[in-house]
Amino acid sequence: MPVINVHDKKFSPFLSEQEIQQQIKKIAAAINEDYAGMRPMFIAILNGSFMFAADLFKYLTIDAEICFIKLASYKGTTSSGQMFTAIGLDVDLIGKDVIIIEDIVDTGRTLNEFLPKLMHQQPASLKIAALLHKPDAVKFPIRVDYLGFSIPNKFVVGYGLDYDGLGRNLREIYQLV
Ligand code: 5GP
Repeated sequence: MPVINVHDKKFSPFLSEQEIQQQIKKIAAAINEDYAGMRPMFIAILNGSFMFAADLFKYLTIDAEICFIKLASYKGTTSSGQMFTAIGLDVDLIGKDVIIIEDIVDTGRTLNEFLPKLMHQQPASLKIAALLHKPDAVKFPIRVDYLGFSIPNKFVVGYGLDYDGLGRNLREIYQLV
């Protein structure tokens, strides 16, 4: 795979389509086993997670539900300086086994803000599936229960992830050169 341009920047191939699909199949197999006989509710966080969510969901063999939400940030007064409101979270989570689907956990700020809000809705359990995690970028430690890849602290695009709106349609993941 060649180096590509997205807007003004160059990106080199990092994770192939095959590597990504292989990892997602492994995550799906683990979830199929862990949630056998249950009916988890997946909450996919848009925009970046749409491809990961679609592929992961296709590999599930258990009964499962899914909804898609968007986190809109606004200036708040928390320690992180940002707060989020969840748009589209119109399902009742009381007593549900919830699995969050996130594209990438970077600093952990997003989930650090969002998880306590979800806990208010009293799910029976709450786990996180993330395709990518940058351990060196963590500022708010988040336990990722189902992880695709631990990656270096470099900006990536592709497979749902964008650089200024572009690159989401790439089947592979590329890293900033
Ligand atoms: P966090 O709140 O964990 O710092 O960041 C999470 C969000 O930041 C992700 O859902 C994603 O939208 C964005 N993000 C973090 N790192 C990257 C990256 O390397 N590439 C892209 N395209 N988005 C990223």
